[in-house]
Amino acid sequence: MTSTRHKWADRVEISPYKTERQCSRCEMVMVSRHEFDGGRELHWKEFWRDCDRLDNGTGTPPCDARLEKANG
Ligand SMILES: [Zn+2]
Repeated sequence: MTSTRHKWADRVEISPYKTERQCSRCEMVMVSRHEFDGGRELHWKEFWRDCDRLDNGTGTPPCDARLEKANG
């Protein structure tokens, strides 16, 4: 099995509590979230593509490199 690693672009700061990086191979967006909840500091990551959330708390979904395939 071949697994392609994501190729993350530079971070884009959406807000002080949210940054995004997009994979140039498959267009997946990794969202880093940061919030305070009742004095606790929370960090988590979400993975999105085509307006769908891809992860279910099990870590980074695999890269399908669909853009590279589309380009031959
Ligand atoms: Zn990718």
